[in-house]
Amino acid sequence: MKKSYFPKNGIWLKGNLHSHSTVSDGQLAPEDLVKSYALHGYDFLSISDHNVFVPHHELPDDEIVLLTGVEHDIEYSPDKCTHVVGTGEVGKETTDYVCKRYSAAELTDQRLINMMHNDGQFVMLAHPVWSRMEPDEIMDLDGFNAIEVFNNGTEHLCHGGNAETYWDLLLRHGKHVFATASDDVHVPCDLFGGWIWVKAAARSRQAILEALFAGAFYATSGPSIDDYGIEDNSVYVSCSDCREIHFVTYPPRGKSFFAEDGTPLTQACHALSGHENYVRAVCIDAEGHAAWTNPIYFNR
Ligand SMILES: [Zn+2]
Ligand SMILES: [Zn+2]
Repeated sequence: MKKSYFPKNGIWLKGNLHSHSTVSDGQLAPEDLVKSYALHGYDFLSISDHNVFVPHHELPDDEIVLLTGVEHDIEYSPDKCTHVVGTGEVGKETTDYVCKRYSAAELTDQRLINMMHNDGQFVMLAHPVWSRMEPDEIMDLDGFNAIEVFNNGTEHLCHGGNAETYWDLLLRHGKHVFATASDDVHVPCDLFGGWIWVKAAARSRQAILEALFAGAFYATSGPSIDDYGIEDNSVYVSCSDCREIHFVTYPPRGKSFFAEDGTPLTQACHALSGHENYVRAVCIDAEGHAAWTNPIYFNR
């Protein structure tokens, strides 16, 4: 029997959850961000300026669904920091959470994540490679929903945007963490390099948030994924034209497939051994851009 990972009903919506405007250190004004993403076919956008929450009620929301967002950063030294992006019901300013810049002396990474989580936000660990987070520091953290498997802005800065190995380390330790891709746009060249496709019940803020918390999405820097799931005892994926499809599993090793004779791959499947804790798929196109599914977990 075929069981798709994605909800049966719903619509695919494209969005970016991590962006900066002139409200903090971005070069584009909020209205220009909205215009750029709407013109480029995006369905939703979260403006996540540093340590400040702006509801942006003044911006038009007829062409794109605006999610509220924020990025908190704790600076430990000029070369080391922790950045956490939140989207959702940001900024209720409860007694437990005030949206401001926190110093390293004021709180820990875990306390920051707890505050954002308790505020109802979908919490993402941003660009851990660029931030110089050590793997064991990440492993000690709980309560975040996703890690940025790909961050276009820090990839442009110094090849610091790919956190796929960090993500697998979390999954190997039994942490159920989704993966997002984002632009983290500060300057125009960061635009349109990393995004997510969400399968939501409707093109509304609430439906998008529900899909995010449920993991009904995938991250990509190019390829699209049509379907992904389990059929009998195999994992399958179907995608746009790709040169490689990988199934990543643990503890047993997974399986890789490559296009042969110039014919692109659009689907693959892999028989599971029955000993996997999780499986996920990665589809890579001819330009090297990738799409990452969220993991399917097994209760072994
Ligand atoms: Zn950041
Ligand atoms: Zn950022």
